[in-house]
Amino acid sequence: MNNLIDGKTGKWEIIIGLEIHAQILSNSKLFSNSSTKFGLKPNTQVSLVDAAMPGMLPVINEFCIKQAVKTGLGLKAKINKYSVFDRKNYFYADLPQGYQISQYKNPIVGSGEIQIDLPEGKSKSIGITRLHLEQDAGKSLHDQHPEKTYVDLNRSGIALMEIVSEPDLRSSDEVALYIQKIRSIMRYLGTCDGNMQEGSLRADINVSVRKPNEHLGTRCEIKNLNSIKFIKQAIEFESRRQIKIIEEGGQIEQNTMLFDSNTGTTRPMRNKEEAHDYRYFPDPDLQPIIINEEFIKNLSESMPELPDQKKQRYINEYSLSTYDASLITSDFDTAVFFEKVLKVSSHSMKNPKLVCNWIISELYGYLKKNDINIHKSPITPDNLSKMIGLIIEGKISGKIAKNIFEEMFYSKKDPTDIIKEKKLEQISDEGSLKNIINQVLEKNTEKVLQYKSGKDRLLGFFVGEVMKLTDGKANPSIVNKLLKEKINK
Ligand code: ADP
Ligand code: MG
Repeated sequence: MNNLIDGKTGKWEIIIGLEIHAQILSNSKLFSNSSTKFGLKPNTQVSLVDAAMPGMLPVINEFCIKQAVKTGLGLKAKINKYSVFDRKNYFYADLPQGYQISQYKNPIVGSGEIQIDLPEGKSKSIGITRLHLEQDAGKSLHDQHPEKTYVDLNRSGIALMEIVSEPDLRSSDEVALYIQKIRSIMRYLGTCDGNMQEGSLRADINVSVRKPNEHLGTRCEIKNLNSIKFIKQAIEFESRRQIKIIEEGGQIEQNTMLFDSNTGTTRPMRNKEEAHDYRYFPDPDLQPIIINEEFIKNLSESMPELPDQKKQRYINEYSLSTYDASLITSDFDTAVFFEKVLKVSSHSMKNPKLVCNWIISELYGYLKKNDINIHKSPITPDNLSKMIGLIIEGKISGKIAKNIFEEMFYSKKDPTDIIKEKKLEQISDEGSLKNIINQVLEKNTEKVLQYKSGKDRLLGFFVGEVMKLTDGKANPSIVNKLLKEKINK
């Protein structure tokens, strides 16, 4: 991928580093036993701890620690046996404590790395700086009343993992791949559902620009984005904005920016002078987290197969291309579906590539159009496998399979029933095909002569006529063979 972009004074390189906030999948919050369920009535999942009533003490949820360590292992990162919760002090209406409990100098997870798969089949390693635990804030609701802002504390205290990357990303496409990969790893691990629409995965994007091989430039940080589309737009806009300033002789101020999704533009929220001084200090209500070798060992032994390992296995076992293997493994449910299709029939086992294609091109298309998740697919692995078996046996053509596929999707019927009902079975019987070919040739004696005198292209015309007479059911390769035999006699 050539990531350099043109400015008036030559080529520029975009440098990007991400801070991803991922909500931990856990039934209860980081320091209280309130539920973490999304979408419930405002302020119904708020304990006295979450509302920061005087005298309330946080109690650490061990499950959340395990989730963070598992994620750290998934990011091939160093697990820190000693980590500390700090208070990050700032005032905001949706932060009842007046501080956020976070980790600062001693995060639970140190440096690691992940691989992203670039389109041309190469992969690139992206450094992870750290992963720390913190609690989420509540939510300010600005759209409920013309003059007032309401506060919903249901989210207050939910466990977050902040995953900070090195400034290793070079384009908005790489950033999209990076987020998808982190999300994929966390979904495989069951540590975060990665649902960006519901805000379980959000990111702050740090962007700077430089001439190739120069020192890193001053960065701006675009806050709190929760859609890959907006993240890409924000990076495109912000990098152009910075290039323009520098090319006009100006300097980049280290600002915190807001992205406006209506206009696709970024604008400053605060500059370095206005930056918060969080006055971090260790939270006196919480002990440092100390974990031992055995704790880490137990978790690493319980790790499932992760996307990269699964991808490699599919390449080795099923001879999929790197590209197909990475597509089909990037979503856990899709990989499960794929393996089920292969398991139910020996036919599909013979052609994993065909199975992969039907899932990626057709099934994905229909699921997306109808907004259905693959684990609720109306086409079951069983039925897809049967249909692919019929193609491999030569009972239906690829073209007719597409019609059957659509019918299977909307009626949930078995493909063999659809074929019977609609009489769609492919005609491969040479006797009946010969009859039809004779009819076609007799009707077009003129063209037959033209063909014989060298107009080879007419063969396609004859095949087309046979197809018309059979409603597309004739087996094209047999028709081709028989036609040539007959006409070249
Ligand atoms: P802060 O708390 O100031 O936001 P963090 O260390 O939490 O600092 O995050 C800094 C983020 O900015 C990291 O993701 C890092 O990769 C990224 N970053 C650092 N320097 C640059 C730069 N020059 N250009 C782009 N991103 C950068
Ligand atoms: Mg930051």
